[in-house]
Amino acid sequence: MNGDHGLTPAQRRAFDDWLQNIPVIILKCRTLGHEFTDWDDRRSKITRDGATGTYTIVAPCKRKCGVVNTRPCPPTAIRSRAT
Ligand SMILES: [Zn+2]
Repeated sequence: MNGDHGLTPAQRRAFDDWLQNIPVIILKCRTLGHEFTDWDDRRSKITRDGATGTYTIVAPCKRKCGVVNTRPCPPTAIRSRAT
């Protein structure tokens, strides 16, 4: 048992390099959680499940880390947007 989890010095250096190279954006998402806009017409879209008729909002993380958030959307919200 030791505090280094059995890493060799070379492995430790590789790990440190890897840490340095993670984009700050992704680190922020890892520590703070992803940020999703409430609604963004340019980036969000709504998909409709043909079988159940339920709507789902699909929106990428604001920080463009590649994570996409999907959540159910009540049809009333869509109707109110259209008027
Ligand atoms: Zn994110």
